[in-house]
Amino acid sequence: MIPCKRVLRELPSGAPTHPPDLDSIVADLGIELRYIKSRAGFNGATDLSGPRPVVELGWVPASRSRSVLPWEPGVRLADLQPHQYDARTRFTLAHEIGHVLVHRLAAHSDAPSRLDRAALERACDAVAAELLMPTDWFLSQIDHDPTIANLRRVSMRAGVSISAALIRARGLRLGVAAVFLAQTADKDWRVRRVYGINVRNAFERDCADHAALTAAPLKSINTWQMPFSCGQHVHVLRGELRRTFLSAVMVGATIDGHRVPAPTTWRCAPSKPRHR
Ligand SMILES: [Zn+2]
Ligand SMILES: [Zn+2]
Repeated sequence: MIPCKRVLRELPSGAPTHPPDLDSIVADLGIELRYIKSRAGFNGATDLSGPRPVVELGWVPASRSRSVLPWEPGVRLADLQPHQYDARTRFTLAHEIGHVLVHRLAAHSDAPSRLDRAALERACDAVAAELLMPTDWFLSQIDHDPTIANLRRVSMRAGVSISAALIRARGLRLGVAAVFLAQTADKDWRVRRVYGINVRNAFERDCADHAALTAAPLKSINTWQMPFSCGQHVHVLRGELRRTFLSAVMVGATIDGHRVPAPTTWRCAPSKPRHR
């Protein structure tokens, strides 16, 4: 694994200490940015074969979704309001910048020039996280307390999604677990994604308390507890919940009254029964 700080020193302006202006970085690196419309499932790609790097980013026409800003080629990212879709695209762009930097580093150093594909993708994700949320900056913002309010603030300042901020918090050894819930067409709440709890299927599809979730005030942060089963026991994740219209995120600080460990994933490890 190439250390991402070493990769980021390839930036003409050096490794950033604050969330950077990606447009300046794109200009500094001579990257040609292209927006590709309507290619299903396409996030981004980098072509390093020509004289200057070409980065393609997926772009969804505004008419397709009310949640997407009307991006145009040539529009600066920094000119736009932070938004969930911007956040995703911004992370994709940072990842593609990672490809450009790894390529530059390999051209003049003994860094491994041929990583296998999965290792290269992981390295570029790590570079993107460090680029958008530099370690020292992130820790100073989160104040060692990964609450929803802190994670939301840091995600907005860094222009990333709350999920990216959560993954960053775990990567920086802050104990935190999270459950993302989403509402289905028939208004049922379903667990969509779980971070930090390594119990497969621990959360039943309907383990969420539908009535309580539906009644939770929109956009306010509530203390919350959610029982889940490891198959043998019922455990309780306790933390904060924030609900928007169609989704909810719960950031857990404790499981069964103990702080969520970091960076390892929580597992149920019951003590062995004692012989009498
Ligand atoms: Zn990639
Ligand atoms: Zn258990």
